[in-house]
Amino acid sequence: MSTLETTADERARQLDRQYVFHSWSAQADLDPIVITGGRGCRVWDDSGHRYLDFSSQMVNTNIGHQHPRVVAAITEQAQTLCTIAPSTANLARGEAARRIAERAPDGLNKVFFTNGGADAVENAIRMARLHTGRDKVLSTYRSYHGNTGAAVVATGDWRRIPNEFARGHVHFHGPFLYRSEFFSDSPEQETERALAHLERLVAVEGASSIAAILIESVPGTAGILVPPPGYLAGVREIADRHGIVLILDEVMAGFGRTGRWFAFEAHDVVPDLITFAKGVNSGYVPIGGVVIADHIAETFAHRVFPGGLTYSGHPLAAASVVATLDAMADEGIVENAARVGAEVIGPELATLAEEFPIIGEVRGAGVFWALELVTDRASREPLPAARVAAMRSELAARGLLAFTVDNRIHVVPPCVVTDDEVGEAMDIYREVLRDNSEGVVR
Ligand code: PLP
Repeated sequence: MSTLETTADERARQLDRQYVFHSWSAQADLDPIVITGGRGCRVWDDSGHRYLDFSSQMVNTNIGHQHPRVVAAITEQAQTLCTIAPSTANLARGEAARRIAERAPDGLNKVFFTNGGADAVENAIRMARLHTGRDKVLSTYRSYHGNTGAAVVATGDWRRIPNEFARGHVHFHGPFLYRSEFFSDSPEQETERALAHLERLVAVEGASSIAAILIESVPGTAGILVPPPGYLAGVREIADRHGIVLILDEVMAGFGRTGRWFAFEAHDVVPDLITFAKGVNSGYVPIGGVVIADHIAETFAHRVFPGGLTYSGHPLAAASVVATLDAMADEGIVENAARVGAEVIGPELATLAEEFPIIGEVRGAGVFWALELVTDRASREPLPAARVAAMRSELAARGLLAFTVDNRIHVVPPCVVTDDEVGEAMDIYREVLRDNSEGVVR
């Protein structure tokens, strides 16, 4: 084929391989799929491949692809004013901040906008340190908080280790009953023991040196680890007793993913700072931010907050937030995520687990589910990550974009997913699980 006959898909792939440097990858062996369009829960290329998107890309397209109201709002804002300095007042920014603050619990009334999730975490940590005059930040090993200086060192997973240059970060074990660090055999025991462990850590680190406890309300990339009852409320109580700021990271879990506006709403807890990004506008234009409790905002009433970004509250992003949150409310999209999770995805995944011993555990809520894959149900030996990666390719070959991490498949469609789309996805998961079940010990 001559250069003239090269398809757009081939050209996209060639340019990517020649010029684009990718995240979290050794570059030489990459072979990314090409995506040229999308709508709702589906994406496609120009060569006739269509995929059901059960990854929501980076677990962020909560409203689905190309929602017409969000696209129209961005277009309209682009025609009015594409960009403006953060020091100005702008209606789109104000409306976006109001909508987010109104969704947050009472007493959290200000929003600082960032470009994404990591810098939201970064600025929440900055606020907590300046507010308390303390330095240390406690976060869990099973966590991901982003890839900037402090956010990546707050991260508990392996990505922290090659990047450990920020100071004052201490890690602890959060609750995870299936692979309990505390030898627990009930959720109650896991809560009690994980809280005792945190209390002990606070004591040995010295409460007066700890600025913040930073936790994902539902740890996402680490495996969708819904906290056992009482855990987050218990963390709140420890933080209060020691004057520590509680930061709940809702970057992945927030804005509909768990079937609620904020994931922590299911856990009887109110944080001091909430970090958000992803689902707030489904990533149509990059944005994130921190929702700030009044007592922390007050710290900066007459004292300069030493942080800022050229694109803080960017009008295109702000307009997309307004349209996203309005469309989600008007169309019952969060309620849809809750219902589909409870009535369809949860039961369907439980059926798969009955059929296939390769599934050690199913856990989640809303449109935020994980299949923990094992080679042996009794020993809970994780399925090797290379096998799960191969399963991801098999799922894609059958038309399903999956999100996989380590030994897990995360079932994370957009919040707009329909019962029929879940049914279609389950047929594909079933085929691939069946093909991979040989040799697994029941
Ligand atoms: N916090 C959590 C819980 C996340 O899941 C992520 C990204 O996946 C981040 C922070 C970082 O967000 P970003 O990639 O937008 O910087």
